[in-house]
Amino acid sequence: MSNPEVELFSDTKTRPGKDMLEAMMAAEVGDEQAEEDPTTIALQEKVADLLGKEAALFVPSGTMCNQIAMAVHCQPGDEIIADKTAHIINFEAGGPAVIARAMIKPLDGVRGQYSVDQAEAALRAGFRHAPDSKMLAVEQTANMGGGSIWPLEVLEKLRVLAQENNLITHMDGARLLNAVVASGVSASKYAATVDTVWIDLSKGLGCPVGAVIAGSKDFIAKAWPWKQRLGGSMRQSGILAAAGIYALDHLVDRLAIDHANARLLATRLAQIPGVKIDPLTVETNILIIDITEADLSGPEISAQLLKKGVRMGATGPNGLRAVTHLDVDEAGVVRAAETFAEICS
Ligand SMILES: *Cc1c(COP(=O)(O)O)cnc(C)c1O
Repeated sequence: MSNPEVELFSDTKTRPGKDMLEAMMAAEVGDEQAEEDPTTIALQEKVADLLGKEAALFVPSGTMCNQIAMAVHCQPGDEIIADKTAHIINFEAGGPAVIARAMIKPLDGVRGQYSVDQAEAALRAGFRHAPDSKMLAVEQTANMGGGSIWPLEVLEKLRVLAQENNLITHMDGARLLNAVVASGVSASKYAATVDTVWIDLSKGLGCPVGAVIAGSKDFIAKAWPWKQRLGGSMRQSGILAAAGIYALDHLVDRLAIDHANARLLATRLAQIPGVKIDPLTVETNILIIDITEADLSGPEISAQLLKKGVRMGATGPNGLRAVTHLDVDEAGVVRAAETFAEICS
């Protein structure tokens, strides 16, 4: 499919810009598996520092970060606590069942976030017939929760609950930096509430490939064989790591623009009869749009938008998701809202 003029399907659709490509071409490279790629090492140190962790590891994708973390932290049959909308449950092709061979207990949270009470109630009693509760998993921001930001105080309480119950805490930080820019809370403060955390380079940061997972030195030492086993070890990966370094240096602060565009889109869409979205709930760059009361279904609206050069994904018959990013500007979101209104009128 050719690219629509206004691409709101996902922030993964971004393409590397000229400056990023130049940084990639200039990268010093070596054999990554032998830990001889200087640019990859520099990226790992930069992310470890950003997140306040002892060490970090560059891997091809965020999905692999989650899979590695679950595999390192869990024994087969252990249980992971996550919100029902979590990426590890819905979008990783059943990976936890195949790789860590862990179970996941989905909690019925609000906007992608479970409460401390829900987590506590979900803990197993240490009874022979039950799986062992092993890990609390959170997504910052909560993707299918409309990019909602887990408040620092809640994460801190979950940390305490985890410590009291001997649980590991893991943060899927695919969009952690969106939360950082929107809330003003530092990445290391959020990261201090969890044992392991990763950031995606290929979402709002605009890189073509890559994610970086961080934790203790011991965790990273255990992550390496999993990365190797899953085929995630690379060679001259400095070309990719250079894009990540470029993005962390130049493209983080501008996420605020994406958030402003998302809020503007929500404000415009909220005026369309049959469309429900509260602009005040749009904290970062993702909109989950409720169209239960519209005449058309999610897939119908999505198809009609695409014919008019605007792409949004349907989340089901009653919903659409729109995501802003560095390849969509204010005029683009205004056009998207106008097109949406035309289709619904
Ligand atoms: C995109 C995403 C992932 C997976 O990252 P990839 O780099 O696409 O594998 C995991 N979790 C969340 C919340 C995501 O949005």
